Amino acid sequence: MDYKNLKADVELYIPKHFTSGRRGRRIEFVGIHHTAAVGLTVRGCYNVWQTRPASAHYLVQRDGVIGQLVHDRDTAWALGDFDANCRSVNIEHANNGSDPWTVSEACLDSGAHLVAALCIAYGLGRPMWGGNVRPHSMYMATACPGELALSQRDAYIARAQRYYDMMAAGAADEEEEVKDEDIEKIAQRVWTIEKGRETHDRCYRMTSMLKAMCGIGAEDTTDPKSIAGEIYNRTIDRWARCTAMLKAICAIPKESMAIEDVPEELDFRLSDWDVERIAERVAELVADR
Ligand SMILES: [Zn+2]
Repeated sequence: MDYKNLKADVELYIPKHFTSGRRGRRIEFVGIHHTAAVGLTVRGCYNVWQTRPASAHYLVQRDGVIGQLVHDRDTAWALGDFDANCRSVNIEHANNGSDPWTVSEACLDSGAHLVAALCIAYGLGRPMWGGNVRPHSMYMATACPGELALSQRDAYIARAQRYYDMMAAGAADEEEEVKDEDIEKIAQRVWTIEKGRETHDRCYRMTSMLKAMCGIGAEDTTDPKSIAGEIYNRTIDRWARCTAMLKAICAIPKESMAIEDVPEELDFRLSDWDVERIAERVAELVADR
């Protein structure tokens, strides 16, 4: 699979049981499924969907090989909810066991990598379970996606996040001079400027500020990070908002440019993405405190 260009190992597009286009909707999340069949191949899936009015965009085989059966630009019939179908890209994972319904390491790895690639390609933000990565069972009473939503869930999403970070860093490295170690230095410095209880309070205030900026109600408990992609799509000046977020973390006045001076010995321009990574890293440091 060419993850960067979203070119699958096998392309076998089904002629029916999907909807052309997305009814004006944009892709907002990745839907996760299991086949409830052991060892199903791309060809096998293709055959099943010839007779069953159902589909997904991708199938990950037990050996990790990925097939594409519906174009991303089209709507697959995957979630039992047409509007949700229009807003998602759906991935089927072939099982390697039925009691319980597990997937192999190779399948888990390829699936997680594909999730990361889709999150990058469609600007969905870092993979978050229940946010931009949603199990089929979120939309209807179904056992799908089996253990991927249970015992294998944490491993799956952690892997997707790692791939996402790698791919995002790779993309940033090509365009910018900022390296991961620089991000770490800045994050550490931002973190050590202010610590203790106050930092926690700042994070809460930052969340409130983000909600206000993005038109999210104060009572909405959705983690803003999980809908980061949507947030940024709603906003025009990402840079200004990311900077504001960092300033809020560090208690630097809004009109101050001091945040740009945080990495004393470094000399480079920060991209929006670098700032996001710093903010994320600082949040992690706060959480690990
Ligand atoms: Zn499903």
